[in-house]
Amino acid sequence: MDPRSGEIIKGHVSLGSLRIRQDFMIAQALMHQPFAERDDNYEPMLKMALARIRQLSAHEVGHTLGFAHNFAASTNNRASVMDYPHPQITVKNGNIDFSNAYAIGIGDWDKVTIAYSYAEFDKKTDEKTALSAILKKAQDGGLRFISDSDARAAGGAHALAHLWDNGKSAAEELNNVLNVREVALQNFSKDNIRSYEPYSVLEDVFVPLYFYHRYQVEAATKVIEGLDYNYAVKGDGQLIAKPISVNVQKKTLKVILKTINAETLAIPKDKLALFPPRAFGYYRTRESFKGKTGVAFDPLSVANTASDMTLRFLLHPQRANRLVLQKSLDANQLSLEDAMNSILQVTLENTETDSYLTDIQHQVNVNVLKYIMHLATSNESYFQTKGIANKVLLELSQKFLKKDAISIQYGMIIKEFYKHPEKFKLEASPNIPDGSPIGMASCGY
Ligand SMILES: [Zn+2]
Repeated sequence: MDPRSGEIIKGHVSLGSLRIRQDFMIAQALMHQPFAERDDNYEPMLKMALARIRQLSAHEVGHTLGFAHNFAASTNNRASVMDYPHPQITVKNGNIDFSNAYAIGIGDWDKVTIAYSYAEFDKKTDEKTALSAILKKAQDGGLRFISDSDARAAGGAHALAHLWDNGKSAAEELNNVLNVREVALQNFSKDNIRSYEPYSVLEDVFVPLYFYHRYQVEAATKVIEGLDYNYAVKGDGQLIAKPISVNVQKKTLKVILKTINAETLAIPKDKLALFPPRAFGYYRTRESFKGKTGVAFDPLSVANTASDMTLRFLLHPQRANRLVLQKSLDANQLSLEDAMNSILQVTLENTETDSYLTDIQHQVNVNVLKYIMHLATSNESYFQTKGIANKVLLELSQKFLKKDAISIQYGMIIKEFYKHPEKFKLEASPNIPDGSPIGMASCGY
């Protein structure tokens, strides 16, 4: 047994109550008018939170038995309790369905790790051959194992390994997640809090709903210039490594671009009335939205923050470099220019007719500029990556020679940047609040 087990359990038990609360909040935010009829309608939220805790308990027992995280298990029909699970929520007949939020029991991959680690063989059996046979059977059944070092990094390349995601196809699941979010946004009302609770509480309940797509969009960005690979060993017959096909990359990029579109990020105007300045004693915390409008709710900064969740991953220098490399190796593949053009089409080259949507889009656009400037200057960027980023910026500066206030401001941003590009520092957007499903508290082992 791992001698650190006691410490691991001690550290993780304290996370249990936090996770119950976070799941409770997700359910409270996504449900349709949970407190319209009565204030004690807490069973559905509690049910989901307890399902999560049941899964977490199995996860910690797994560590105690010596098992590592498997962040590819969610692509194998939730094959392991050693993944980090995001609730699997869907829309059925126009209603949000929570019935399959978390898997029950251990999964197929867990049975493999238990057999591999703890099976005992008689003296006549060659142990090496028998252990290899266990892995071969798992491999033939399509089970995958990818752990922390390939799943956590923002520039990560493994197209299947990510934390808090679901589904075999990251693009399809992102579509599902955006659909759930859209339905819940439309349904959101004062009846998502109890009678006599301040509207400030409603604003905080809205946080996990607004950022509901945050982990699935990260998972989807890893398909862009993604690789499929295994921890292959000589003679095991596994796929070693191959790029994700151009069609899958293009299809995934199309869905990702929805997450930097003004219409997705705009909180419907009629919902804004639900978020007045905070009540006395209910001030904003690290779990609240951040803004630049003082006491007033700031839907523009909130959209800026949400776009950061996508752009930070999509325009990561390592991903941009790999796009350059994949095009160099295969002329049919998606290139950095292709990806950049697609991003510009839905942002800086997009025109909205509604003034609210236009201002939301500007918030996102400034963020896009920021990340392109980062590509143009980062020490991590290839020479070629910098060239493509600089070309985009110089072309945009021509576009912004007009004299309206917005063009002047965009032009100024680029002009200022080129005065001292070496001084450019990537600054974070208003922080994403801690929150669902786990926020700051990750499982450190
Ligand atoms: Zn863990």
